[in-house]
This record gives sequence, C-alpha cells and structure tokens, in this order.
Amino acid sequence: MDEMAHGRRDPLGEWHPVHPNGWSPLLWNVLYMVVAGGVWLWATPSREVMATWSPGWVAAVAIRDVILLVGWYSLAHLRLFWSRSQGTRCKYNLRWPAVSAERFASGSQLRDNLTWTLASGLPVWIAWEVVTLHLYATGRIPWLQWADNPVGFVALLAVTPLWRAVHFYAVHRLLHWGPLYRAVHRVHHRNSNPVPWSGLAMHPVEHLAYFSALALHWVVPSHPLHALYTSFHLMMAPVPGHAGFDRVALTETMWVPTGGYAHYLHHKLYDVNYGDGTLPLDRWFGSAHDGSPEADDALRRRRTARAA
Ligand SMILES: [Zn+2]
Ligand SMILES: [Zn+2]
Repeated sequence: MDEMAHGRRDPLGEWHPVHPNGWSPLLWNVLYMVVAGGVWLWATPSREVMATWSPGWVAAVAIRDVILLVGWYSLAHLRLFWSRSQGTRCKYNLRWPAVSAERFASGSQLRDNLTWTLASGLPVWIAWEVVTLHLYATGRIPWLQWADNPVGFVALLAVTPLWRAVHFYAVHRLLHWGPLYRAVHRVHHRNSNPVPWSGLAMHPVEHLAYFSALALHWVVPSHPLHALYTSFHLMMAPVPGHAGFDRVALTETMWVPTGGYAHYLHHKLYDVNYGDGTLPLDRWFGSAHDGSPEADDALRRRRTARAA
C-alpha cells in the first residue's frame, strides 16, 4: 500500500493523515462485541456457579482475562514495534521509542508500561468484571433477558460505545484538573510517543475510574453480555488508540485505520482532544485539534487567553 495515499509526513517527521477525524468505530466495536460474545458463550462460568464467591470461578475468569489482555497487547506490540512489520509507514512519530528513557522511573518506557498495566490495570479490570458478574448472578443487579425486550437489548449494545465515549471524556477531563493530573494522570502522560502497552499504563486511581464505566450495568437493566461488551471495549480499545500508527497493515493491500490520531495529539500536546473521538465532544467544548496549522493557532490563542 502507498502510505502517501492516506497522508503526508511533514519536515519534522510527523505524520498527518488526510482524514484527521476519520476512523472506523464500527469495525473496532464489532471486534470487541464478537470477543465479548465468545467470552460469554465459551469462557464465563454459569450463573449458579458465580452466585457464590469461590476461588475456583474467580481464578478461571482471571486467567481468561490475563490471557486475552496479554495476548491482545502483545500482538500489537510484537507486530508493530518488535518485528516492525510495516516499518514507519503511517507511523505518527517517525522516532521509535528509546530503549532507555529517564522520564520513566524504571528507565524504560516498555518496562514502565508493562508494570502499570500488569500490576494495576489487569487486577483492577478483573475486579470490576468479577464483582459485576457476581452481582448479576445473585440478582442484585437487574438481568435483562432477550425475550423481555429484544429492541432494548439491541439498543443497549448500540449505546455502549456512546456511553464509553461520554464516561471516558468525563473521567479524563477531571483527571486534567491540576492536583489530580499531578498526583494521578501524569503517569499516563509520560508516554509522549505512545506504544500499544501505553494504553493502560495508568495510576491505580485512574484504573479504578476508567473501569468504573462498568458501573452503568449496576443501575441500568442489562444482560451480562452487555457488561462484557463494555468490559472488553475498555480493555481492548486502548490498543488502537495508542498504537502510534494511523493504519495497521493486516496484509500488503489491507490497511485498517486505528482512529488513534486525536489521542496521539492529546499525548503530544496535552490540552487537546480529551475524548475518544466517538462523539464530537471536543468540538462541542472547544478543545478539538486536527493536527493542522490552524488548529495550532487556535490552541496558542486558547493558551494565551487562559494565561491572561
Ligand atoms: Zn490526558
Ligand atoms: Zn492515552
């Protein structure tokens, strides 16, 4: 594939996609839904089993989640950054992450990202999921059956990405409030040139808040499949969002857009693009940036006005 058909590289080495706001939410959402469906059908204990706390089923869910998270993040990392299968084609930042970097306490971006993700992100995600499944099984949160309301069942699947977008924006915006940023969100922002494993490289408080999107299912009647869709959306979406590439080559002719440009600019510029791009929240609230010189000018004006 000719990368020049999809964007241009400026003299500083930055990649600018032709369609800065273009992405394929449908494609990625379908993937997350299919994974959630498979997990529900073949890799989730029965309602009767999950109704009582026992180490057996909790361990089974945890092992399943460890395999899927490590597999998903490793797949992207090994392909794009270890084997560098597509070189720097469609890579936003021409530079590869440095092997050692002093801004990370461990001296390495990858080691830092793995530590936060595996020591905090993974257990917090599993805890949110296990508690939610247990609450369904015991009937403490309402279990919507397909036969009760087929239209509502489908509508809830369609709404999940929108809920994720609003929840992510709200939590993320809050984390950019000075004291919270310095105490919590700064960990994630050390990744100015993110890689897939940066996606969940967050402070534990941010993990708690990020995965709290699952609490929607504690109040809105839904099926565990809906909760698993939210759950796997939360776990999987940070990979395309932090891949560092605008398109990923599945084959030489099939290039899939990641939709990660807006969030790449967020990591680079800090006070733009707080949303995940599913809804035009940043355009509505005046923080959108599409990588153009005009957007740079608008950002400079906003910063000057704020400083005045
Ligand atoms: Zn941020
Ligand atoms: Zn990020």
